[in-house]
Amino acid sequence: MASIFKRIINGEIPCYKIAEDDNCFAFLDINPLNQGHTLVVPKQEVDYIYDLDDELLSKLFLFSKKVALAIEKAIPCERIGVAVIGLEVPHAHIHLCPINGMSDLNFANPKKQFSKETFEETAAIIRANL
Ligand code: 5GP
Repeated sequence: MASIFKRIINGEIPCYKIAEDDNCFAFLDINPLNQGHTLVVPKQEVDYIYDLDDELLSKLFLFSKKVALAIEKAIPCERIGVAVIGLEVPHAHIHLCPINGMSDLNFANPKKQFSKETFEETAAIIRANL
């Protein structure tokens, strides 16, 4: 059975899409730590990020850099924090999250709630900054 992220990539499950290329796909996290919290995933379905081959891992990080710089322009913040957790969804992914302090990247924090319209606007402004 395909992972939830593979189903998002395939368009079977909706998402607030940010960008894609031949190998990678980026979309807003549905339970964000902060507005603009984005997930970047390889299209290839591999659970553990360190099981990706070196070439794909490099491509994933370079793609994440482009997305992170767009988020930084779109969302007022001090930096874009980067995290790899992977305990919930068995499909490798990088979290990119606007932060203003260390505690903003604490995954034990309560998740932010936004309307569909806000998610759509957030994705649109990030896309516009790519
Ligand atoms: P992790 O596997 O890194 O612990 O967490 C997985 C992340 O994926 C969580 O931040 C969670 O909110 C996000 N997530 C889980 N299911 C979905 C989904 O169906 N759509 C989106 N956009 N994000 C999801």
